[in-house]
Amino acid sequence: LIEIRGVSKSYGSHEVLHGIDLTVQPGQVVALLGPSGSGKSTLLRAINHLESIDRGSITIDGQFIGYELRGDRLFELHEAEILRRRTQVGMVFQNFNLFPHLTAIENVTAAPIALKRATKAEALAQARTLLERVGLGDKADHYPRQLSGGQQQRVAIARALALKPNVLLFDEPTSALDPELVGEVLDVIRELAKEGTTLVIVTHEIGFAREVADRVVFLDEGRVIEEGAPAAVLSNPKNARTKEFLRKVL
Ligand code: ATP
Ligand code: MG
Repeated sequence: LIEIRGVSKSYGSHEVLHGIDLTVQPGQVVALLGPSGSGKSTLLRAINHLESIDRGSITIDGQFIGYELRGDRLFELHEAEILRRRTQVGMVFQNFNLFPHLTAIENVTAAPIALKRATKAEALAQARTLLERVGLGDKADHYPRQLSGGQQQRVAIARALALKPNVLLFDEPTSALDPELVGEVLDVIRELAKEGTTLVIVTHEIGFAREVADRVVFLDEGRVIEEGAPAAVLSNPKNARTKEFLRKVL
């Protein structure tokens, strides 16, 4: 369960999130849509404390990732504790961000081994299972540069799953891919959704959002301007800005 309450965030004097409220239930798939610069990435990054926030709170299963409450004030935790808590949240980026000097399977085992979540043998066995699951059982020993974009992104998904996170965040996971490679990545995400994984996905794939999301949330200029069931919001948006956005992307 992700609870986002009254979250505001500024870069210098420029406030990019204005009092965002959003709750994501366990097993829910939420698609985050909105124009460029509306704050989608900032919000996603704030969820796992890759960005600090200025006001409000974000908790996952009741726990802050980057802060602790002392009295009625939030204080930022030290880095080691943030890293430990961040493992509850998996993140997949637009540009894959794989470790280039590690093979596919080493990318997947790196974190569980470094964080002593598993012995090397256990981590390898689990990584093989995860690579099978994303259709890359035969690519375990390939380096990122020997893989297509779609394959790299599927390794990134396997890597994100390796720490058994409670929630997975996707920031435009298919935007950097050639069109013919988009489907293979969406297929993996669709499977995760079916299995009941909690997902928050920033995407411009409106058709995919309609099919897979339980809820779509529109951000515009750092505010949630509309949200609801995909069928309702995408077919029959009420907000003028949502209408305009959909007209442009569809
Ligand atoms: P896109 O669809 O283009 O990815 P977005 O909705 O993800 O856009 P954000 O990346 O969250 O938007 O950016 C929101 C606003 O914050 C933008 O105005 C952006 O210029 C600004 N911004 C983002 N990161 C920084 C930063 N590190 N320093 C200063 N301003 C930033
Ligand atoms: Mg973005």
